Amino acid sequence: MKCPICESEEIRIVYANYPGYFDGTSFDIFECIRCNTQFVSVETVDPEIYNIAYSNKSTPGYYRYLTYAKEIKNKNNPLKYLSEAESVYYPIYIYLKDKTHLDILEVGCGYGYLTYSLHSLGHNVEGIDISSRAIHYASSHYGDYYQVAKLEDHHKHKKYDLIIATELIEHLINPVEFISLCVDLLNANGAIILTTRNKDYHSKTSVWGTDLPPVHTTWLSKTSFKYIAEMKQMNCMFVDYTNYVGRNENKLMSYLYMKWTSNRMPQSILSNKGDTNRKNIEMYIRIILKYIVFFAPVRYTCSYINRLFTKEHDTLGVIMKRKNLKPIFPII
Ligand SMILES: [Zn+2]
Repeated sequence: MKCPICESEEIRIVYANYPGYFDGTSFDIFECIRCNTQFVSVETVDPEIYNIAYSNKSTPGYYRYLTYAKEIKNKNNPLKYLSEAESVYYPIYIYLKDKTHLDILEVGCGYGYLTYSLHSLGHNVEGIDISSRAIHYASSHYGDYYQVAKLEDHHKHKKYDLIIATELIEHLINPVEFISLCVDLLNANGAIILTTRNKDYHSKTSVWGTDLPPVHTTWLSKTSFKYIAEMKQMNCMFVDYTNYVGRNENKLMSYLYMKWTSNRMPQSILSNKGDTNRKNIEMYIRIILKYIVFFAPVRYTCSYINRLFTKEHDTLGVIMKRKNLKPIFPII
């Protein structure tokens, strides 16, 4: 067996029969010693799992996307609204701060609200997703900027200034091939922005601190991205989250919760019928706590204290650009 990222054969099994996303399923978790990536070895993932997950309103993590989709049209600056709501949109917000009229492709655009927010800033946008249900929603709410397509089937005659894929790469069986396709579609000065769950946020002994397999199939670190960037002749920068304080997160609480649960065996999220396994009592406690820990002065104070514990954030924001760009001198 080889590492799906750096192709090293120095692989160790970190957990056998780890619980899967659905009841009664389990997966062996492997780790690459060289590039610090955890992965499961699967040939294919049945796309039907996303239909089951998306069709359940209480599925953790998915329902909030629909909330953004509904609220975004009422916002004066939709991208700022998204960035303040959730850390995954912050890298795009800071990258685009001083840029206008870019050609942008969003891969895995889901309900299309991020693509729409970029359009509202004057960029030329396209959003693609494999879910016809999500694209139908996007087209009918925001306009004709969306297509049902995989990146490999997307038209090749156009190049982009920016390709965005938030929270997508961890779902893919072959992340390196995905980044190759992105690089092929990039202008000379173009950039790729990716976000994923940050393995470096967790302790070295943690097992699979991301959505259960096969929903997520890789858990990537900064070293994983350095290897991918090197293979593809790209430079890779990581977004600094030190000054970021999201509206829906309390960094200190998240950090302590991560430490508390790091050695706890997770429970499968959904039964095979798609019903959530999460207990109602846990849901209610979360809702009550939310109002206390998300109160702005509490969030900011906790963010400051959190710096004493870690410089990492649970979201890893990666910006890739081509290496060895020749400087363009002005013609005199
Ligand atoms: Zn590796």
